Amino acid sequence: MTSLNELSFLSADQIKTDSDSLKTYGKDWTSYFDIKASAILFPKKTEEVALIVQWARKNKISLIPSGGRTGLSGAACALNGEVVVSFEKMNQIKNFNSIEQTVVCEAGVITEALQNWAVEQQLYYPVDFAARGSSQIGGNVATNAGGIKVIRYGMTRNWIAGLKVVTGAGEILDLNNALIKNATGYDLRHLMIGSEGTLGFVTEVTIQLTNPPPPLQVLFLAVPDLDSIMNIFAEFKKHTRILAFEMLSELAMKYVAQNGGLNRPLENAGQYYLVIETEKVFPEDEENILKVFETGLEKGWIIDGTMAQSEQQAKTFWRIREDITECLSRYTPYKNDISVTTSQVPAFMNDLDQVLKTAYPKWEVVWFGHVGDGNLHISILRPEGMTKEEFVKECRKVDELLFTVVRKYKGSISAEHGVGLTKKPFLSFTRSASEIEIMKGIKKVFDPDNIMNPGKVF
Ligand SMILES: Cc1cc2nc3c(=O)[nH]c(=O)nc-3n(C[C@H](O)[C@H](O)[C@H](O)COP(=O)(O)OP(=O)(O)OC[C@H]3O[C@@H](n4cnc5c(N)ncnc54)[C@H](O)[C@@H]3O)c2cc1C
Repeated sequence: MTSLNELSFLSADQIKTDSDSLKTYGKDWTSYFDIKASAILFPKKTEEVALIVQWARKNKISLIPSGGRTGLSGAACALNGEVVVSFEKMNQIKNFNSIEQTVVCEAGVITEALQNWAVEQQLYYPVDFAARGSSQIGGNVATNAGGIKVIRYGMTRNWIAGLKVVTGAGEILDLNNALIKNATGYDLRHLMIGSEGTLGFVTEVTIQLTNPPPPLQVLFLAVPDLDSIMNIFAEFKKHTRILAFEMLSELAMKYVAQNGGLNRPLENAGQYYLVIETEKVFPEDEENILKVFETGLEKGWIIDGTMAQSEQQAKTFWRIREDITECLSRYTPYKNDISVTTSQVPAFMNDLDQVLKTAYPKWEVVWFGHVGDGNLHISILRPEGMTKEEFVKECRKVDELLFTVVRKYKGSISAEHGVGLTKKPFLSFTRSASEIEIMKGIKKVFDPDNIMNPGKVF
């Protein structure tokens, strides 16, 4: 690409075109796309990002923002010779304000590095999920990442006090300046959050931190059916300070035990398992947790259960839930993350299970997810002997079946992973035609030449 010569403001180590780099940085966690990136750029400051955008506009080059590449929707994949802009070299944590409890992070700060840094200040960054060790704050903002503590702390959006962005027009914008109150028209910060790199680049993020949580209690329960899950949820919600309520099916448990080398924590098997985390602020909180547990046993909603006796044991319970994606990855599963309102989860799952059993009686369907906020992850394992190509073709049909059920429940085809490429053909199952037209109009304003991650979302 001859126009790369015009990027004289970047040093040699900030431009890569070797085939290994193109393959590595040209993709995210998905594995079904043919990757064709032209070059990878590594800006070190916002002004360089703005110059890259101006260069791309002049030369009609499409750009793809790239964070930690843990995305699960193909949104960071380069399929058409795009230039990828990696934030790996913009990874500084700076400007801590101890009064506001805010901190400015460059977009490439790893999520876990921010969490650890917050702990060092006796503070807390509560957005948490299994990809924390690789995903970046810029990517978390661009996907509005959720995770395991959403029922207590909300999504990434709740923790963004300000953003510095470079739009697709090449302008640098400082959005909201960390103000708590700011009633001056449309909040452009919130348009950037969850925009999957289609409006511009996030270069700096002002994060709101909070005080550390009180002592926590983690429980691991075996339950007989979906209705019991909802009953247990209602009881925990009413009587305890619940922070996380995660579900995995017996099949998920089987693969974690088999491929992850983790022991089953309970003697008795259930059809589903729950990992529940609650806060212990007052002495009666512990009693309430026990009472709810006993009620669940008496009513037959809980088959078996245990409460973590140490931090190590709590970590083991969490590993069972968090290692599922990794333990299934060898089967190159078809994965989706969908949501319905929490109370609809049992009816929705039963409905969908029936549809899939009728169409694919021999396929293994693994359910797990953030059931406390209605977000379910479904993984269908590639049957032995089926080629990747055949499986991908068949999964297109599964998409149609799955999203038709999601639409029936007025749910979302993407709860937290984003639309990217994988869910793009089905956006209209969750968003109306008018909404999609408005979104396209917004993109034109931010990105007049359609150079920002074109072909993603819609
Ligand atoms: C094992 C595993 C578990 C996961 N669990 C969860 C979970 O519980 N909850 C959840 O929400 N997600 C989860 N994810 C998905 C993923 O980790 C999140 O979507 C994460 O926020 C992506 O961040 P990233 O830095 O890796 O972004 P990438 O994958 O690099 O990019 C994702 C999107 O953000 C854009 N982008 C990246 N950086 C920028 C930037 N600086 N400016 C503008 N756009 C940018 C990209 O163009 C792309 O559209 C999981 C992934 C894995 C592999």
